[in-house]
Amino acid sequence: MATVVVSVRPGHDAAVVQAELVARGLWVERLEAGGRVQFVVEPHSQAISREALLGIAGVEAAFAGKPAHPRMDAQAGRAVVVAGVAVGGGAAPVVMAGPCSVESEAHIAAAAARLAAAGVQLLRGGAFKPRTSPYAFQGHGERALGWLRAAADAHGLAVVTEVMSAEAGPLVAAHADLLQIGSRNMQNYALLAAVARLGRPVLLKRGMSATVEEWLLAGEYLLVGGAPAVILCERGVRSFDPSTRNVLDLGAVALLAHVHRLPVVVDPSHAVGRRDLVPALARAALAAGAAGLLVETHDDAGHALSDGPQALTTHEMQALMDGLSKDKEAHRG
Ligand code: PEP
Ligand code: MN
Repeated sequence: MATVVVSVRPGHDAAVVQAELVARGLWVERLEAGGRVQFVVEPHSQAISREALLGIAGVEAAFAGKPAHPRMDAQAGRAVVVAGVAVGGGAAPVVMAGPCSVESEAHIAAAAARLAAAGVQLLRGGAFKPRTSPYAFQGHGERALGWLRAAADAHGLAVVTEVMSAEAGPLVAAHADLLQIGSRNMQNYALLAAVARLGRPVLLKRGMSATVEEWLLAGEYLLVGGAPAVILCERGVRSFDPSTRNVLDLGAVALLAHVHRLPVVVDPSHAVGRRDLVPALARAALAAGAAGLLVETHDDAGHALSDGPQALTTHEMQALMDGLSKDKEAHRG
């Protein structure tokens, strides 16, 4: 958020204005020059609109510094529509799911049928996989894109899949509704520019050690470059503790959802790295304000070509979806 400076109208008691600011959950630093008093609002303060600040008696003006990511800020409160499915902006949580890798035509077709029946809206599977080891399965590439699209179309699902290179971009865009930028590529600015030019909404995963500000600036690159909209995806960050694969940063999710009011989905699978903990993190993510989930699934995880340990079976995915709709009803009721 841009720095905000509030100036006190001459003749007003600055201490009274300060008390009003503090009462609204703001932390302020007092500046005084030439008999004028100003308050700098510190960044960890509660979110407040400029209009609300101007409504405080004794506040003459409220200036905001130049925003670092104006295009991302302009997405605030708006849903991103992916093939008719609204993500964020107050829409019901959206679930994206599928195997880490598209393994075969039959495998993705079966997965699509089961996931659609469970209420999933976007089918996700990797055709081009960013693997840490060059010896690990790298994805079936172009063939997998065709299998993925056909499987999704057979069940009215939208498609999300990763773009790893500028060269493969047009091919991926010809098959996908939402283009994924993986964690390892969040700061690959040449790739961001190339993907932006494809004119599709982008799912931008957080770099594994990226700050929220760096993540928002990566989103800004996409919007400046021509992408129509950006959905953020928190997938866990690196920490000192190897107990779980990564550390799911729900504080960042709450910040993005409630302060920046941007669409952020959560990938509990890569965050925790083990299937038994995925449902708990999925529920926590929605409670923190996530606009949706991205979950890896596999019905024979022991033989999965990638990320088997964190994949839910379709049965477990169905149970998770049923639980989420119960939570929603309880919330309403
Ligand atoms: C993935 O989504 O399968 C993946 C490789 O995730 P990440 O980029 O978050 O590591
Ligand atoms: Mn994976």
